Amino acid sequence: MLSSTRCPCSHLFISISSSSFNFTALKHNIRSQTRCFHNPSDPQSLSNPSCNHYHFQSQHNPNSLLSSALTSITSCSSIPICRLIHSKLVKHLHYNDGFIGDRLVSLYARLGYIQDAHQLFDEIPNKDSVSWNSIISIFSQKGEVNLSLNAFYRMRHEYQIYPNDITLISLIPACGTAEGSYLHGFSVKNGLSSELKVSNSLINMYGKFGHFNSASKLFNTIKSPNLVSWNSIINIHIQNGFIEESIFYFNSMRRANIYPDQATIVTILHGCADIGVGKLADALHGNILCSGLDTNIPILTTLLTVYAKSGRLTSSCKLFKKIKKPDTIAWTAMLSGYAIHGYGKQAIEHFNLMIQKGVKPDHVTFTHVLSACSHSRLVTEGQRFFNIMSSVYKIKPRLDHYSCMVDLFGRSGNLQKARGLIDSMPMEPNSAIWGALLNGCKVHNNIDLGEEVSRKLFELNPSDSRNYIMLSSLYSKAGRWGDFSKVRALMKSRNVVKTAGCSFIEHDRKIYRFVVGDRMHVESEKIYGKLEEVMGRIGEVGYVANREFVLDDLEEEVRDDLVGKHSEKLAMAFGLLVCDEKMPIVITKNLRICGDCHNMAKFVSVVENRVIVIRDTKRFHHFSDGLCSCGDYW
Ligand SMILES: [Zn+2]
Ligand SMILES: [Zn+2]
Repeated sequence: MLSSTRCPCSHLFISISSSSFNFTALKHNIRSQTRCFHNPSDPQSLSNPSCNHYHFQSQHNPNSLLSSALTSITSCSSIPICRLIHSKLVKHLHYNDGFIGDRLVSLYARLGYIQDAHQLFDEIPNKDSVSWNSIISIFSQKGEVNLSLNAFYRMRHEYQIYPNDITLISLIPACGTAEGSYLHGFSVKNGLSSELKVSNSLINMYGKFGHFNSASKLFNTIKSPNLVSWNSIINIHIQNGFIEESIFYFNSMRRANIYPDQATIVTILHGCADIGVGKLADALHGNILCSGLDTNIPILTTLLTVYAKSGRLTSSCKLFKKIKKPDTIAWTAMLSGYAIHGYGKQAIEHFNLMIQKGVKPDHVTFTHVLSACSHSRLVTEGQRFFNIMSSVYKIKPRLDHYSCMVDLFGRSGNLQKARGLIDSMPMEPNSAIWGALLNGCKVHNNIDLGEEVSRKLFELNPSDSRNYIMLSSLYSKAGRWGDFSKVRALMKSRNVVKTAGCSFIEHDRKIYRFVVGDRMHVESEKIYGKLEEVMGRIGEVGYVANREFVLDDLEEEVRDDLVGKHSEKLAMAFGLLVCDEKMPIVITKNLRICGDCHNMAKFVSVVENRVIVIRDTKRFHHFSDGLCSCGDYW
């Protein structure tokens, strides 16, 4: 017997048979979409094991039928099969049977058919709070904020079902601050704010939109925050660059006897890596050992990155050797360490070793190996890696790889090759790629190409001050002051704001920040005194200030005075005053180091007999005995 039933989601008519109906046969006939027949004479329709999931085992026993239906729903991965299961359920089961309706709604949503899920949900009679929470969660996960809020409203006002903590936890992640604040108020009014999971969701919501005060205030009201609460408040602060605050919370967490897990440590370490703080990394390393997390590969990988970014490549190497079976991410992290420190040859050796050990490189590995070649002027090697990336490892070059190659060609003087590579790209070049070429033009004083590239950059990214500065410095080096002024005027007319250069240095568990001409430090007098003394001494051995570089940071009217007070110089003077003589002075700068500060650091390393390490946005410069590890190529 065959009967025809309209699927409640109205998309599909499916014919289904009597109670002995076989889903297997249905699946095989799905292509016809309109009619489906059980053919008992076709043994294949019953024996194909791959189809057994869709065959309800015993249609006469409701419990067994329900169990078969649940199995089918769980394993279903396509919409035609979903519709078949749906039609079968309509015929044989009531939606009230063991949340089967909710499961089917979830299945439609999982397959991306939100409208069908919604429609079916509306058809389910006697919806309880589990059904409502489930649909709210589905809408929320799919980013359908309005649908989830609407369900929240209907649940309360049309169906008089009271939301509970699960409802709020499902709803909050989809909300913006306005809706989230409303739910916060709702939770307080209705006694749900004491539920830890609700508070944790609200903290994350506030953090996501940058409302730290609200997040912190709420966090402080929690009587016994759990690991999730602590991780949330720490992560929010790290994500937004408030490292000191996150460390405060990390220490408070430990005082509260809550042990950090992988998420806590990796989050904190990422924060340290961004600002290059070495002592903090040491403390965290101790903590990792004590917590028994010293075999955890993601943690050790992040820690080795922190050491590398703090200027301590030797510590990174030691740590890498301790990892028993480093994965691609760990190998790549170590490679990236060599790259940013300008050790091109070591980076290549490391890459070769990785291949020997049978670890497959990915696109990130190639970005770092190409960048290592670029920093060390290894043009032939870079070209070889770029070729084998696609020919041997079947990795298609991405924008990052092209950017490294343009940088490699451009800075080494092969400007036409760089231009040719951009023309051959299968995708549109982005501003990073044109920016790399403009930098090459600046290094090799090619004004014609520089002007052409600048025009493209001004179109692509009119608010990026670096491009205006690079073009104007090309003009100033050539003595074309009229053109120089035009670029500066263009910048002003477009309200382009330059990023203020600032340098960071760690001392006595604190990070000190300096900007150009800074007098905010309590020891300002001493710092300027030291700077003057050092400038005098390096002047005696041949240092001459190069005023040209003041243009990289400042307006021309203040150029004469302030080149001598660039943030790196102030940080260096401070470092000379406070840092242990046997230890290197490590400075981090938020922009690229200027040529004059680079030159000064070389002289200071001689007259003060110190090692100075400056990390700028591109790489590390290790100054010692009057030389820099970059070989003046940066
Ligand atoms: Zn400078
Ligand atoms: Zn250098």
